[in-house]
Amino acid sequence: MTHPIPLARPVLGPEEEARVLGVLRSGRLSLGPRLAEFERAFASWLGAPRASAVSSGTAGLHLALRAVGVGDGDEVVTSPFSFVASANVVLYERARPVFVDVDPVTLNLDPDAAAAAVGERTAAILPVHVFGYPADVAALEQLGRPIVEDACEALGAVHADGTPVGARGHLAAFGFYANKQLTTGEGGMVTSGDPAVKERIDSERNQGRAPDMDWLDHDRLGFNYRLSDLACALGLAQLERLDDLLAGRARVAARYREALAELEGLGLPCPDEGGARRGWFVFVVQVPPGVDRDGVVKTLAREGIQSKPYLPAIHLLSFYRERFGHREGEFPVCEDAAARSLALPFFPQMTDTEVERVAATLASALAASRNASPLR
Ligand SMILES: *Cc1c(COP(=O)(O)O)cnc(C)c1O
Repeated sequence: MTHPIPLARPVLGPEEEARVLGVLRSGRLSLGPRLAEFERAFASWLGAPRASAVSSGTAGLHLALRAVGVGDGDEVVTSPFSFVASANVVLYERARPVFVDVDPVTLNLDPDAAAAAVGERTAAILPVHVFGYPADVAALEQLGRPIVEDACEALGAVHADGTPVGARGHLAAFGFYANKQLTTGEGGMVTSGDPAVKERIDSERNQGRAPDMDWLDHDRLGFNYRLSDLACALGLAQLERLDDLLAGRARVAARYREALAELEGLGLPCPDEGGARRGWFVFVVQVPPGVDRDGVVKTLAREGIQSKPYLPAIHLLSFYRERFGHREGEFPVCEDAAARSLALPFFPQMTDTEVERVAATLASALAASRNASPLR
């Protein structure tokens, strides 16, 4: 049997080991020197004025929503085609996620649909740069509401006007879970333009403690959303090789495009358009309509290839259905994408041979599914 190919695999080497070991040996495992160093290095890599490290992308989104003043009874216009965290954080503040449909090409929040959903109670707009492709934030800026960007899949992405995703001056959250472009195991970062906003986020991640206060003085409600120095050290090592990691992902994506070009009816990730650049996070294809996607997943698995339906529509998750009465048919573009999306193995060190093996196996799985289909 040929070797298994996982969905994702982090790149970790002696540099990461040395950095983490350094923190272990220093004895300062949290709130030590690596925290501010990682924040500064990240902000500088990105081209953002400042950044706050937090314990996860979700924690970052939560603090970002609080920082723009989202609270009880507010509405936040957002995308249903995302990882569940981008909607959950709205509920953390007892606000309501108002989903609107996505653009059929980019699968990102459709600005016209967002405009139609903005009302008196809209306290923020929360676009998601899904699969690393930049959402049309410039259009959303016209709607006159604070913007919080879910950039957790979009490290390395660039907007059409040349601004890096996360550096437009809005609050933007990045995630560092093990499958992301940069990993700290668990972790995240919030970029912001305003120093007062950074101060608030830094305080709220640390139990509401103000920077100039003694350890047990707390002047606001806070959380424990800190990122340890161990994680920050790992992040610093990853940041040093980030350009290579991103280039590796782009190379694998290009190989996939070639290898899958001939597969009839298969939808590929949208190509970069008008100066926008994707920060490659996942390689997600859309299986042709009528294809048994679960059957394709099983066929790939039999050949040692991991794949996953990705992403499900948030409004159709059981919790959201029950809580808000959502039904099929509300957001047809999102639902069609959710029904047909399949994430293929994708990581910087994936070899051309591995890409070709995935493509060939997918081709035969699709052919088998076509032959079995009653429609043919
Ligand atoms: C990864 C991710 C997050 C945050 O995930 P954490 O596990 O909390 O770091 C949020 N939104 C999207 C779209 C993601 O892909």
